[in-house]
Amino acid sequence: MSADRVVARIDLEAVRHNAARLTEVAAGAELMAVVKADGYGHGAAPIARAALAGGARRLAVATLAEARQLRDAGVDAPVLILGALHRSELWDAIAADHAVTLWTPEAVAAAGAAGRAAGRPARVHLKFDTGMGRLGARSDAVADVVSAAAEEKGLAVDGLMTHFATADEREGPNAGFLGEQLVRFRALLSEVAPRFPAAVVHAANSAATLRDPAAGFDMVRCGIALYGGSPFGGDPAADDLRPVLSLRSWVSSLKLLRSRESAGYGRLWRAPRAAWVATVPVGYGDGYARDLRGADVLIRGRRVPVVGAVSMDQITVDLGPESVAEVGDEVVLIGDQGGERITTEELARHRGTINYEITCALSGRVPRVHDGG
Ligand SMILES: *Cc1c(COP(=O)(O)O)cnc(C)c1O
Repeated sequence: MSADRVVARIDLEAVRHNAARLTEVAAGAELMAVVKADGYGHGAAPIARAALAGGARRLAVATLAEARQLRDAGVDAPVLILGALHRSELWDAIAADHAVTLWTPEAVAAAGAAGRAAGRPARVHLKFDTGMGRLGARSDAVADVVSAAAEEKGLAVDGLMTHFATADEREGPNAGFLGEQLVRFRALLSEVAPRFPAAVVHAANSAATLRDPAAGFDMVRCGIALYGGSPFGGDPAADDLRPVLSLRSWVSSLKLLRSRESAGYGRLWRAPRAAWVATVPVGYGDGYARDLRGADVLIRGRRVPVVGAVSMDQITVDLGPESVAEVGDEVVLIGDQGGERITTEELARHRGTINYEITCALSGRVPRVHDGG
């Protein structure tokens, strides 16, 4: 048992497995490992190295600072910045030879100027909005950005891309929208792709990669599945993905409350009977969110509920009328213990959110320990 009050252990062997699995599913398309937001809370550089070892060829981040962090950590695989960049950031990104995502003639001109100043072509991925309604050129703006990029000196169009809005919805009213976006993207490519023969075509996130091989094109951009999360919110094992992160703490105090005595701020929980209550040193200051009240944790291989308010640094757990734990026992908040498992999908359902947010929420106070590197 670790001496830390709470620790996130990251299984890099599982990352390599997931990367290899996605490479296999992508059937010929190359894998780009998405490590934005510090690798979805797992630590970007170690995840990037493990993903590359598992078969990923390139990396993606959201921001210039994230691209810099990878370089500073000595990761030298190609990096694409997916997010929007201010003019000065665009200049700096190109000076540092990161690939950038662009969709307007103005940004294309700025990238060309930066590439000429750098003395080598700016690496540009042109993004098209086929239904996400966020970044990317809409159909009426495609021709302008495409001709600007084709004519501009000082840049190389390395990629043509779009992004799916509903790839994770296999059922329900949005189930067909992935197909619609694919149709729009293919129609656009038939016009645009011949002008940029060297460009890598990419569209699929984890959900689209697992759901539709036809969405793979030349490259897939996978995040959540790399971390062993199900993009569909179900069981990751159904797609042969292995959860990467576990979150463990320990029983710091144990006491017997009498019936009707309360635990925690606001007296939100009162013992319905005599109750052994364990205190665990983890709270919303660590990213164990306040609305996880009522979620289960594992102690001695048993599921026991978080009761009372989640505090900044502590939670309280109802062990029931028998004393079945000791101070110092391991507490599993995410992960396996004694054949039981708490998944990020389970916590996400409890909070009414998605598994992505569970690991992204883990704060800087939680040490990340990387195993199997
Ligand atoms: C975050 C992101 C991805 C990865 O999505 P997952 O669902 O985690 O696989 C892919 N493409 C873009 C543009 C993204 O922003």
